[in-house]
Amino acid sequence: MSDDTEVMDALVKDWLEWVNAFCKRETDVCFTCGKQVTKLTQVGRCVYASCGCRQFQGTVPDAWREQK
Ligand SMILES: [Zn+2]
Repeated sequence: MSDDTEVMDALVKDWLEWVNAFCKRETDVCFTCGKQVTKLTQVGRCVYASCGCRQFQGTVPDAWREQK
């Protein structure tokens, strides 16, 4: 009973949940390739991860700026 729209909605929901956790550094796994992300880099208006994937538009979250 799922059409393409429902599949897309589920994917967006998953992604938003991942972004939420990722920004708080509750997860450090890239949503795109599944590799562990060790560093985020600001490139223009977007944030790129150490694995090379674009993560999202915006700035590097505070949790990723701190060197712990
Ligand atoms: Zn990646």
